[in-house]
Amino acid sequence: MKRLIVLGGKESGTGAALLGKKLGYDVFLSDKGRIEPGYKAVLQEAGIDFEEGRHTESRILEADVVVKSPGIPDTVPMVVQLRESGTEVISEIEFAGRYTGARMVCITGSNGKTTTTLLTHHILSQAGVDAGLAGNVGKSLAAQVAENAHPVYVVELSSFQLDGMSRFKADVAVITNITPDHLDRYDHKFENYADAKFRILQNMDADGMFIYGRDCDVVRERVDAMQPAPQCAGFTYGPHLLKDGAHMEGDMVVVQWEGRRFSVDKADISIKGRHNVYNAMAAILACMRMGLTDDAIRRGLKSFPQVEHRLETVAEKQGVVYINDSKATNVDSAWYALDSMTAPVVWIAGGTDKGNDYSVLLPLVKEKVKVLVCMGVDNRKLMEAFLPLCEVVDTHSLDEAIEACREHAVSGDAVLLSPCCASFDLFKNYEQRGELFKEKVRAIPD
Ligand code: ADP
Repeated sequence: MKRLIVLGGKESGTGAALLGKKLGYDVFLSDKGRIEPGYKAVLQEAGIDFEEGRHTESRILEADVVVKSPGIPDTVPMVVQLRESGTEVISEIEFAGRYTGARMVCITGSNGKTTTTLLTHHILSQAGVDAGLAGNVGKSLAAQVAENAHPVYVVELSSFQLDGMSRFKADVAVITNITPDHLDRYDHKFENYADAKFRILQNMDADGMFIYGRDCDVVRERVDAMQPAPQCAGFTYGPHLLKDGAHMEGDMVVVQWEGRRFSVDKADISIKGRHNVYNAMAAILACMRMGLTDDAIRRGLKSFPQVEHRLETVAEKQGVVYINDSKATNVDSAWYALDSMTAPVVWIAGGTDKGNDYSVLLPLVKEKVKVLVCMGVDNRKLMEAFLPLCEVVDTHSLDEAIEACREHAVSGDAVLLSPCCASFDLFKNYEQRGELFKEKVRAIPD
């Protein structure tokens, strides 16, 4: 019996263990932290052996195959040792991909992955396609392959997942954009991070389709230089340039693929802002490739619900619209949030700075922001960056920040939480930051 060791006991690890068990592997799951009760129950019910609070190296080193959670860096000594001894260390997606013949629509990029994945999945599902949702969102791909197989999957892939992939082949691959992020895991080299994203193309051939953001210099220059094997379709907010791809004609989003032309008014896409036009273009191209009719695509674009913590309209209070964009943890995503604003903005930003360069935001802040409410333990860098352009308030808690917003916002303004920074100084994670924000906003009198 082959021995499968799974490192990490959350969604992907538990799923990989279930699939391994079903395939007849001798499975052992090991998590250095605590395993949540829900996942523990699943493992117990399936009769899968596991440990928590430690990694028993002697046992792990006996593996034939190791499935590693994307959260564990490749540089961890045990992982290095496993690889040196010739043991395959792969991601859950790579493992699951070996045991399914389903069509794979795979989405990566620095920003927009979740939105594009959910939107593509929504349009396909609404059109009656039996599609599974997997990767960073939805249920583990391996668990679905084991228990509830679908003929199509829409998979969100982070660069860490792509690092653990070798034989996996996407049918449709999307790269939304590439901007600096997570560089601590890539020797602080942007090239290495971009390389990881482009691994999504590995093993693809001329039967595949590659959809990519042409307005992102990093992506476009690489694509033009490498001439990828699959058929390519670039999307741009500018005018028409390519035979296959998406572009704008006034307010119309126009998409061309293999001689077919699809168009939709940007007002008929439920999610707003230029970045969401990009996300919609990618989703439309993928859905055209999957054979959906124009009507089906239009219906899905219109009925797609808001994605939580991503430019999510929370409420209107005393004429002020409150928007939760807590997921904007880097400069690029905050740029798109500000770009999409049509009302004067009271902007809540701040948190743990990841070495941000705020200069790209200066013109937008000058144009749209009346007051910047800094919310963080240490706001000095943020305040210095924007002080000459708008009024700046220094706050150190959500309560203080909301108070400042209520003081400064008047009817017709928008209060935008788009922090540009990680949340760890004041919150557990971006979800908690967004949830608390929503709670406090809803408590403001109408
Ligand atoms: P990811 O899964 O890649 O983090 P999300 O869809 O969760 O992407 O969006 C993350 C943040 O980036 C949100 O603040 C969102 O408003 C913004 N965003 C979404 N799509 C894009 C895009 N195509 N380009 C830039 N920013 C985007």
